[in-house]
Amino acid sequence: MNIVLMGLPGAGKGTQADKIVEKYAIPHISTGDMFRAAIKDGTELGLKAKSFMDQGALVPDEVTIGIVRDRLSKPDCEKGFLLDGFPRTVPQAEALDALLTDLGKSIEHVLNIQVEQDELIKRLTGRRICKVCGTAYHLVFNPPAKDGLCDKDGGELYQRADDNPETVTNRLEVNMKQTQPLLDFYDNKGVLTNIDGQQDITKVFADLDALLQGNRI
Ligand code: AMP
Repeated sequence: MNIVLMGLPGAGKGTQADKIVEKYAIPHISTGDMFRAAIKDGTELGLKAKSFMDQGALVPDEVTIGIVRDRLSKPDCEKGFLLDGFPRTVPQAEALDALLTDLGKSIEHVLNIQVEQDELIKRLTGRRICKVCGTAYHLVFNPPAKDGLCDKDGGELYQRADDNPETVTNRLEVNMKQTQPLLDFYDNKGVLTNIDGQQDITKVFADLDALLQGNRI
């Protein structure tokens, strides 16, 4: 099961990705998470990515494609994988096709979670994340039991540097401009499906699951 999960920042990709990888037992490959881990570990990759991420800009393709190529070549991707946050541009999608062809694979499903822009801004600026386990909360829609602390492990909650109101608008604009040609690219290949991301989390997952099992929604 080779899947690309799409949707603008805040559409709920992370939440749905967790559910899909649990059910289908495939690795969750998020380029954003890989860059954040590299920054935390102070690696050369992290240093390269940080300045772009802090501005809400895309990390250059040669860096991003390189880390995805390495990751998809690992044995745990044999039975499938879920890509989240990659590809973000048509050149990245073309590079992905080329490297999958080399590996004797192809993308079977491109699932696009759709949410209105006003709703995305509300979701992103209120988002807070646990420093210890990465669980996401929302100040209004999904607050923790104790202010500023994770329900699971009591870890301190923080706001991602690129979730502040100024950066959010830029991130959404960059994303929207670059996403449409990518959606067209996959639509032309006949692998794209749009899902209504403003439904309940459970209903969004039910739709995704149905599609992955080859049903219509
Ligand atoms: P995300 O967690 O997917 O919202 O990604 C956070 C940031 O990581 C983005 O704003 C970019 O700076 C960088 N990033 C993640 N994925 C990619 C990608 N496919 N291409 C370029 N930059 C990326």
